Amino acid sequence: MGLIVQKFGGTSVGTGERMRTVADIIQRTLKKKRVIAVVSAMSGTVKAEGTTNLLLQAGELAVQGVDFEPPLATLERAHRAAVGEALTQPALRAEVQTWMDSELAWLRSFLEALQVIRELSPRSQDILMATGERFSAYLLAAVLSDRSVPATFVDLTSVVPEEEREVTPAFFRRLQERLADQCAPKDHEVPVVTGFFGMVPGGLLKAVGRGYTDFTAALISAGLGRKKVDEMQVWKEVDGVYTADPRRVPTARVLPSISPTEASELTYFGSEVLHPFTMERVVAAEVPIRIKNTFNPDGPGTVILPRGKAGEALQRVTAVTAKKGITIFTITSNRMYNAYGFMSRVFERLAEYNVVVDLISTSEVSLSFTVDRREELERAMPRLRELGEVVVTPGRAILAMVGEGMKFAKGTAGRMFTSLGEAQVNIEMISQGASEINISCVIKEEDAEVGLKAVHRAFLEDPPAGK
Ligand code: ADP
Ligand code: ASP
Ligand code: MG
Repeated sequence: MGLIVQKFGGTSVGTGERMRTVADIIQRTLKKKRVIAVVSAMSGTVKAEGTTNLLLQAGELAVQGVDFEPPLATLERAHRAAVGEALTQPALRAEVQTWMDSELAWLRSFLEALQVIRELSPRSQDILMATGERFSAYLLAAVLSDRSVPATFVDLTSVVPEEEREVTPAFFRRLQERLADQCAPKDHEVPVVTGFFGMVPGGLLKAVGRGYTDFTAALISAGLGRKKVDEMQVWKEVDGVYTADPRRVPTARVLPSISPTEASELTYFGSEVLHPFTMERVVAAEVPIRIKNTFNPDGPGTVILPRGKAGEALQRVTAVTAKKGITIFTITSNRMYNAYGFMSRVFERLAEYNVVVDLISTSEVSLSFTVDRREELERAMPRLRELGEVVVTPGRAILAMVGEGMKFAKGTAGRMFTSLGEAQVNIEMISQGASEINISCVIKEEDAEVGLKAVHRAFLEDPPAGK
């Protein structure tokens, strides 16, 4: 019998009722396949009020020496309500509540300790975040038991051995084997796994970042391999990957399939489709990934397969996305003309301060690039000013058009810029990736929505505007 790795996002397990919907999906799958379930921490539709955010907030308040109760109380209320709603057997309900109470008591004492230490190390931050996924995995395992489906809670909070010192590709390879080992279903039980894994050297947020549960499911799938895993499914609150964020472009359509590179580019440029590290691992292991909607389980979803395998005609453009909160940074050196090594000096200094750069554009006298995190750049500023005059322009957005088919199409960039021009959107920087599957430009943040719709209309709506 084949095996499916099913990852459920925060919204999918966001309430007790939703946990039951998820249990329905698992039960239906179990008729044909075995299942490993991987879960995110509970979250509403607003991520800011999700458990992970509340935990991080509580941590920040604690280190400031301020009262951390408000976010903790919100979190406690949501989880208590979920336990009541999700479970029918009173004994099971009491058992889960007792477990949760002791976890919460521990969490409070941990936050009190942070109030004294006044320092939130990456490790403490990990310990805090881990609680969210522990709660949701424990509860989902209980919901399955409530229906007499044998399930085991698998806690990956301390799966990383102490001797691991550094996050390298080899680290993830070793981890993948370990996860496969710990998560493989034993007998007929459904392992319900915390999407959080730790303790990662330097912290999970730095090594992987938010949205890490996709990556956990990917590590498990890749570790077990194609021979064992038929498919990795990512269950979300949307029908699949759309031609644009459906919340922002109402005319967006679900794509039946996309390539792994397209999926990575979309995520990188602001569409929360899948964590960007996910694809590489799963695709290398030749496990297909399918995005499905928890609230419309019969929909086909979107499958991520190398182009060609999907058997779909090449489209010119697959999707468009916009990422706000971008800052342009321009450094001009009067000595840049023929000044060998100017660029390498700039990038050396950026690397010293861990500045991550998105788009780059150069001329003979200046170098412009964009960043989405200002903090590191601010720290690097004095060192950069030694090299030339620096201008910082905040409040920008990157608009990116993505599609494997663009490699073969002429005039795509021209049409993109024309559509933006007609919508009165001014373009400040342009970049086309060497792979030609992405054309991006920088525009003003307040133009992002208009720009997104204009490009979507020109390329992804049928018939194209005005034609
Ligand atoms: P979860 O972690 O609960 O699975 P996410 O926080 O990853 O969910 O959110 C998915 C969100 O990503 C959706 O609400 C959707 O609006 C947004 N989104 C942005 N761009 C796209 C896209 N191109 N296709 C599908 N969803 C997108
Ligand atoms: N709960 C975590 C977050 O909000 C991880 C995840 O959802 O994948 O980022
Ligand atoms: Mg997510």
